Amino acid sequence: MDYKALAERLLPGEYPDLEYYEKLYPPRDLPKGAQVTRLAPSPTGFIHLGNLFSATADERLAHQNGGVLYLRIEDTDLKRKVDGAVEAVISALKYFDIKFDEGAEIGGDDTYAPWYQRQRADIYRAFVKHLIEIGRAYPCFCTEEELNALREEQTAKKEITGYYGKYAKCRNLTEEEIYKNLDAGKPFVIRLRSMGDPENKIKFHDAIKGDITVTENDQDVVILKSDGIPTYHFAHAIDDHFMRTTLVVRGEEWLASLPIHIELFNVLGFPLPHYAHHCSLMKQDGDTRRKLSKRKDPELALEFYRKEGYFPRAVKVYMLTLLNSNFEEWYLKNPDRPLEEFKFAAEKMSKSGTLFDIDKLNDISKNELAKLSAEEMFDFLKTWADEFGTEAQKHAFDDREKMLKVLSLCMGIGGKKRRKDFTTASQAMDFIKYFFERPVDFETYRVDGATKGAILRGFLATYDPADDAQAWFAKIKAIAAENGFAAEMRDYKADPEAFRGSVADVAEVLRIATTGKANTPDLWTIHQILGADETKERIAKAIN
Ligand code: GLU
Repeated sequence: MDYKALAERLLPGEYPDLEYYEKLYPPRDLPKGAQVTRLAPSPTGFIHLGNLFSATADERLAHQNGGVLYLRIEDTDLKRKVDGAVEAVISALKYFDIKFDEGAEIGGDDTYAPWYQRQRADIYRAFVKHLIEIGRAYPCFCTEEELNALREEQTAKKEITGYYGKYAKCRNLTEEEIYKNLDAGKPFVIRLRSMGDPENKIKFHDAIKGDITVTENDQDVVILKSDGIPTYHFAHAIDDHFMRTTLVVRGEEWLASLPIHIELFNVLGFPLPHYAHHCSLMKQDGDTRRKLSKRKDPELALEFYRKEGYFPRAVKVYMLTLLNSNFEEWYLKNPDRPLEEFKFAAEKMSKSGTLFDIDKLNDISKNELAKLSAEEMFDFLKTWADEFGTEAQKHAFDDREKMLKVLSLCMGIGGKKRRKDFTTASQAMDFIKYFFERPVDFETYRVDGATKGAILRGFLATYDPADDAQAWFAKIKAIAAENGFAAEMRDYKADPEAFRGSVADVAEVLRIATTGKANTPDLWTIHQILGADETKERIAKAIN
C-alpha cells in the first residue's frame, strides 16, 4: 500500500517535518532534579477537591526543586466546554495558594504555548499524518452502530471489549476498499495500528505505586476523531512531550490507559515521562467507603470552601496531610514553619484510597484560625464578607476599631486561653453577629418573666458605663441578692436549697437580653464594645 499517498489523501496539505517541532519546543533548561508538572483540566466549569489534591502535589513537586508548573486546557470535547471555566480554575486554585508559572490565561514563558489543545490541531495532525505514512495508523470507517454491535458481541462472548486483533475490521482494508469509502464520502477516524501483544508484560515504575507490571497494548485506539480533533490519549503524548513535562501527576483512573500511552510514546519516538498515579479521594459513608460524588457531596466542589470561608492555609495543610503520610508529624514539630520547607515526596503518597474527612479539616481549621492575630483575622473575614457576606456583614468592617475589639475578645486574645470557636469565616461572622445586629432570636430564659423583668430593671437602674469590670460585677451581685439569688458562688454551692439560683443565673439573663445567647465571651467587655446607649436599649427592649 502506498501509505504516503494515503496520508496525503486523509490529511492533505503541507505539514512541517517532525524535527521542526523538536526544535520549536526544545527540552527545557532546568536545574538538576527540577520537575515540570502540569494541571490539565477540561474546561467544564466544575473545579473540585480532586483538582486541588492533584494541583497541590503538582505544585510542590515542581516548585520545591526549581521546576515549572503549567496549566494546559484539555478542550477537545466541545460539548463539555463552559464559558469562564479557565478563569474559574485559576481563581479557585489561586485562593488555595496554587500558582502556575505558565499556561492558558496565565501567560509566562510562551515557548511551549499554545496551552489550549484546540489551538494545537496542526501539531497533532502533523504527527498523525506521519504515523499514517509509516503504516502505524489507518482510517476506520466503522459507524457508531457497528461499534455498538461489536461491543455487545464481545460482552456476550465474555471477551475484552474494544477494537483490536481480529475485531479491528478496518485494520486490514485493502487500498481499493479504503479509497472506495473515501470516494463515497464516508466519515472516518484515524486509529493507531497497534503492534502490541497482551501476552507481553512491561515493567514500569510509577512514582507513587512503585514497581508495577503492565500488559502491552493491543487496542487500535482512535487517535484522531472524525472532526480532526485528537483523543485524550494522543494529545497526552504530543503535549506532554512537547511541553516537556517530566512528571505526569494524574488520577489512578488513567492507569488502565497506560499501556496505550506507552505504545504511543514509543511509536512517536518520544521518551516516556515519569508518572505518578494518585488514588481518588474517598468518603466514609456508613460502613462503606466510596468516591466523593458531585451529586451527593457538596464538599467535593472547591466553591464550597470559598463560600463557607475556609481558611486557605487550613485547606492546604489538610491537603498536604492527605498527600504525604509524614506531613502531619512534620507539621506537629514545625507548626510555624513555612509549608514549603516540608520535603514533599511522590513516594509518600498513598497507594490506595485516601479518606477525606471533613471533621478533620474542621479541626485543622480551628487550629489555624487560632494562630491569627486580630488584624489577620480582620483581613481574612473582610475578604470573605466582601465577596460572600450579607450587606450587614460587609458593613461590620466599617468601624475597624470596633471589629478589632470584637475579634480580640471572641478569639480570646490577651485572655488565658486562645478560643477555638471558629471553623470558617461564615461561622465566625455568625458568631460575632450580635455585635453588629440586634438579636432577633433569643435562647430560652431559665427564669420566669417576672424575675427576668426584675433583673433587667435592676440592671438599668444602676448601670454606669464608666464602671470597670469589678464595679459592674458588684452591681450584678447586688441585683442577685435582691432577688433571692446567691451573690457568691461558694454560698450557693454550700447550700443550694437556700437560693433561687446564683449570680451566674442572673448574669445569664443579662447575657441573653444583650446578645440572644446564653454563652458568650465576657459580658462586661461586650457592653463596653456595644457602648452605653446600645446596651441600655437592648436591655430595655428585652424587658418588654
Ligand atoms: N483532562 C484530563 C482530566 O481532566 C487530564 C488527565 C491528566 O492529567 O492527564 O482528567
